[in-house]
Amino acid sequence: MPEGDTVYLSAKHLDAALHGTVLTRCDLRVPAFATVDLSGEVVNEVASRGKHLLMRIGDTTVHSHLKMEGSWHLYRHGTRWKRPAYSARAILETADWVAVGFDLGTLDVVATADEESVVGFLGPDLLGTDWNAALAELNLRSDPARPVGLALLDQRNLAGLGNVYRNELCFLRGVLPTRPVGDVADIPTMVELAHRLISTNKDRSERTTTGRLRGQMTWVYRREGKPCLRCGTRIERGRLGDDEHTLRDTYWCPVCQS
Ligand SMILES: [Zn+2]
Repeated sequence: MPEGDTVYLSAKHLDAALHGTVLTRCDLRVPAFATVDLSGEVVNEVASRGKHLLMRIGDTTVHSHLKMEGSWHLYRHGTRWKRPAYSARAILETADWVAVGFDLGTLDVVATADEESVVGFLGPDLLGTDWNAALAELNLRSDPARPVGLALLDQRNLAGLGNVYRNELCFLRGVLPTRPVGDVADIPTMVELAHRLISTNKDRSERTTTGRLRGQMTWVYRREGKPCLRCGTRIERGRLGDDEHTLRDTYWCPVCQS
């Protein structure tokens, strides 16, 4: 599952390749937008907002979300794609590049002036130039009974965290993901740490929360049954969600977190 840093880096690469150039082909393979043709328009910018990708082309924005398996690839013309063509949902070409969005969870098209209709619900973007820590804290605290592990994933509170970061943040702050937000002593420190971790990782393809770039790059995420890197206790795994549809794996150390 891509986190905000993955989407940020995708947007940065796509922007570097495409911005200021003219689309020569536009093929959106979703029924609602199959007839949209933006060829001839100039790519103004590719930007991320939380885990959403915004391609501003002419007066139009192609909005996508990677969800579980999605990714955007950039290819030179004539090179072989690394994913099957049938999983391509969007193909945008310029004279030099072919940008292909595979297995996109969301793909829609809005007027750039109406972007808020697709991303306006998002809380402050951890990787945005308008990042607002105080507002993120306020949002997180707005429902004190909610488990902190769910509040951190809720993109309306703050945008950009996925399952890796929410588990790692809870470990690093010594709280169980199930602990109610109202019982977490220092939300500002947790928010500050979230901002620091994701910012540190945003320009590289590796994601680390331990500071190591090989070997153990997470404290608890996907380490169930293995010894805690701090105390040696076996890491546990569970599931947490607002309902059965939003259940996601949680990982924690029963000694270091309470
Ligand atoms: Zn431990």
